[in-house]
Amino acid sequence: AIDFKWIRDNKEAVSANIRNRNSNANLELVLELYEKMLNVQKEVDRLREERNAVANKMKGKLEPSERQKLIEEGKNLKEGLVTLEEDLVKLTDELQQEAQCIPNMTHPDVPVGGEDCSIIRKTVGNPSVFNFPVKDHFQLGKALDIFDFDAAAEVSGSKFYYLKNEAVMLEMGLINWTLSEVIKRGFTPLTTPEIVRSSVVEKCGFQPRGANTQVYSIEGADQCLIGTAEIPVGGIHMDSILSESLLPLKYAAFSHCFRTEAGAAGTATRGLYRVHQFSKLEMFVFCQPEESDSYHEELIRIEEDLYSSLGLHFKTVDMATEDLGAPAYRKFDVEAWMPGLGRYGEISSASNCTDYQSRRLGIRYRPSQLSSTNAKKGKGPTRFVHTLNATACAIPRMIICLLENYQQEDGSVIIPEPLRPFMGGLERISPK
Ligand code: AMP
Repeated sequence: AIDFKWIRDNKEAVSANIRNRNSNANLELVLELYEKMLNVQKEVDRLREERNAVANKMKGKLEPSERQKLIEEGKNLKEGLVTLEEDLVKLTDELQQEAQCIPNMTHPDVPVGGEDCSIIRKTVGNPSVFNFPVKDHFQLGKALDIFDFDAAAEVSGSKFYYLKNEAVMLEMGLINWTLSEVIKRGFTPLTTPEIVRSSVVEKCGFQPRGANTQVYSIEGADQCLIGTAEIPVGGIHMDSILSESLLPLKYAAFSHCFRTEAGAAGTATRGLYRVHQFSKLEMFVFCQPEESDSYHEELIRIEEDLYSSLGLHFKTVDMATEDLGAPAYRKFDVEAWMPGLGRYGEISSASNCTDYQSRRLGIRYRPSQLSSTNAKKGKGPTRFVHTLNATACAIPRMIICLLENYQQEDGSVIIPEPLRPFMGGLERISPK
């Protein structure tokens, strides 16, 4: 349920937003298709009325010749209707397809421009200081015998990996510790399907088709591998009206994520930084519209708490318009210091998608204050919920941070205290 009327009535603002976000959406075409669709719809309605009028006339007493004339008229009307209804379906499809590309509107505080225009909201900690030459996670992992990139390249291709030994315990420990932390904060744990319908991917605001898609499609089926648990969690309440008392719904979903990384050729190819498959614990919130800004703040606070507890040095960034992607109204990234790589790297991302996904997925709620007696009876007006998503823990970059920040001169790596109970008490990974 994209609000085309609103888009038409706010054409200037929508067009400026498309420019600010450097989006390739074609607003003129969308509005042209919308007008066409409205006209065809009007014509369909008119023909239906005429057909009904003819059908009503046929109920009365008629001369045979008159009846014959009406039968002819009815037949012609029906044929015309069939053709027009087919046109309407085609036009609606085309309109929906074009409209998918129109990005969400943008929070007024978001800086306009490219990556360089993003604003640092907060800095936590300081870069670790080493009195020996630092190694990157790739070198460290090799000496610790906790990764195998060579076998993965043979078995799967580049940008795949095996985790081995303590790295497996680190993955499980990180997920279980993070999960226990977010459960404490009221999130419901979930595991999700990792293959979903392409239509659900689209409704979440991702493009499953085309040359530059990040999405792996399954040949011969209209299904894709998920790039993030945001998609199956977003879809869990698809086409439903939630009761207000259920909101907010807060989920923490564990899944594997699959990404083609199209267009990423030449960027950080060594190690775990950019890979095709990884595990992630993702937070997702469905809430009332008035509350989404404050849940966005809550999500970024949880991320900051988690990464501070692990002793990481990071910055929280209010991302500029060109870096938001289509569904986000506002996005806060966390960029952590990776001493071996010698730079900050994005480890998580928290987005407020307002009603962008819920309109497409058909997720509404019935506010009680608008019509309390009716709401109880399951009647009365409905509104779209707002959706938010945020990374709690994305494994590969978290492993990079931990190995590179906690490396010791002897090549061992210390495990941060909060994780130890989740790793059988392990305090240190040592070279074999
Ligand atoms: P996104 O859903 O794109 O905001 O990504 C969420 C988080 O997943 C990022 O902050 C990274 O930590 C992680 N991530 C995304 N893409 C990759 C990748 N190709 N390889 C490893 N980690 C990734």
